[in-house]
Amino acid sequence: MLELQGIAVSPGVAIGKVLILDREGYRITRSQIDSADRSKETQRLQAAIAEASKRLDQHRQNSTITIGEHVGAIFSAHQQMLLDPSLHNEWFRLIDEHCYSAEFAISSVLTRYAQAFRRIGSAMMRERASDVRDVERTLLEALGGQPTSSTTSNQPSVVLSHDLTPSETANLDRKFVIGFCTEAGGGSSHTAIVARGLELPAVVGVGPFLHRIEKDSWIIVDGFHGRVILQPNTEVLDEFRQRIAARSSNAERLSEIRDLPAETQDGIRVSLLANIEFPNEIEACKQRGAEGVGLYRTEFLYLGSKTEPTEEQQYEAYFRVATEMHGLPVVLRTLDLGADKVAQSIAADPEMNPFLGLRSIRLSLRHPKLFRTQLRAILRAANHGDLRIMFPMITTLHELRTARMLLRQVADDLAEEGAPIPSNVPVGMMVEVPSAVLMLEHFIQEVDFISIGTNDLIQYTLAVDRCNEFVADLYAGHDPAVLKLIKQSVDVANQRGVEVSVCGEMSSTPSYALLLVGMGVRTLSAPPAALPQVKHAVRNVTLEDCQQLASRALEFSTAREVEGFLQSRFAELLPEMVLGV
Ligand code: PEP
Ligand code: MG
Repeated sequence: MLELQGIAVSPGVAIGKVLILDREGYRITRSQIDSADRSKETQRLQAAIAEASKRLDQHRQNSTITIGEHVGAIFSAHQQMLLDPSLHNEWFRLIDEHCYSAEFAISSVLTRYAQAFRRIGSAMMRERASDVRDVERTLLEALGGQPTSSTTSNQPSVVLSHDLTPSETANLDRKFVIGFCTEAGGGSSHTAIVARGLELPAVVGVGPFLHRIEKDSWIIVDGFHGRVILQPNTEVLDEFRQRIAARSSNAERLSEIRDLPAETQDGIRVSLLANIEFPNEIEACKQRGAEGVGLYRTEFLYLGSKTEPTEEQQYEAYFRVATEMHGLPVVLRTLDLGADKVAQSIAADPEMNPFLGLRSIRLSLRHPKLFRTQLRAILRAANHGDLRIMFPMITTLHELRTARMLLRQVADDLAEEGAPIPSNVPVGMMVEVPSAVLMLEHFIQEVDFISIGTNDLIQYTLAVDRCNEFVADLYAGHDPAVLKLIKQSVDVANQRGVEVSVCGEMSSTPSYALLLVGMGVRTLSAPPAALPQVKHAVRNVTLEDCQQLASRALEFSTAREVEGFLQSRFAELLPEMVLGV
């Protein structure tokens, strides 16, 4: 048994057999050979190196003729890497000293190199990492391996991978995949958000561990506490099975308050809305008693699709959400593509700092045709429900005005075409960049509502990449600087009488939710699965409890002090929630 610690992403525990999936979609589990077969295995590897070299040579010649020397040179470099004697020594040593199969020897050594290149972080070094994976693939194919291209399994499995993109996560086969665990990643990445949306237990940012996994191993992924247990013994397995049972009876108890309001004991009403990525999450919204959709991340329609979704396809998705919510409000956020959410149809050139690059509203404004298509679909669907439009990552007033101007033009076009469109669709913006907070007095005069996106606000305030496991400990919603920015935004909105909500993941953690209520927030939007817990917390405190929590938290000067205070005060207010599983 081996226990590892990572970042808890999605509440839930998964117990199952491992299914290793690497970025390219093939999996090499640790496998060993009889020690008597070591020299046969070495010869097998030598033959594969020769065969792979021949294939690369062929690719080099063909591509030099058909495309040009610059592409031929890539295969030449791959060939050089393949024939590097120091790599051969490492492979042969693993076979000779540890009796590993040739496949595992190749994969473990090259994975290490690829990771080292990726860690350097520059675009050029990431390219080198891809080169290493290409050489690995060629060599594995030469060994007669059959790289598989999907997470195929016919039993409940826990996917293990170096990393998963948000769209890979969204496309996991839910019939068999019961959880996942990755070496890389941060707790507020979009991959983590998708996991929560799918209610898939997950732990990310565990660090290198895939090389320790043996074929057919069992694993426990504890998405509550970020624990990962490899080859658990029966005692531990029993303990976790009991926890799962206790958890489900707790969930049943919470379902009893589904139709009751989220109202503090002294009668302050809080609206609980849901964050969704896909129309089929509406069912989960209803099951959890969501009073509307506070954030529909529409970009997920683009992810994983090779072609751009047409206006009609988008209209159908928005129409479905609008009608199935039966008149409840739905805040439809326009495309937030870029950074870790890259649509294949408009994939940009690799950027040095993609989170600071052509992302979100910047990308939509740079691709007006794409943006207009989406706006047309939204305005048409707005005839069928209470749809509201929200622009993401607004950083300057100019961006907001340009986006609004495009929206007006699209509305005029539709009107000219005779298409019926509602005249008063509310338009709001996300507050997720410090500049938006600092200039909110101005922004607020030009929007109908704002929603604070704490996931990005934390990242941009503290200069901490939300997807990077190496700085995950610095990513803190309770940092005093972040709290001040949230408070400032809420105050400006409340003074101006403009609706303000929080739709970042902070809303989904009961202690943060109470803190936000204490700061004056009356609308929280969180993944559907988190709503019952948040409602329970709100219903069991008074507004004064929340206000005291907020005013005290805002006095501290370090994140550690705020965290300690929040934890202990929350435990006093709601001890049953802390003792729960
Ligand atoms: C946020 O940044 O808080 C947010 C809700 O947007 P996303 O997580 O999709 O970036
Ligand atoms: Mg955001």
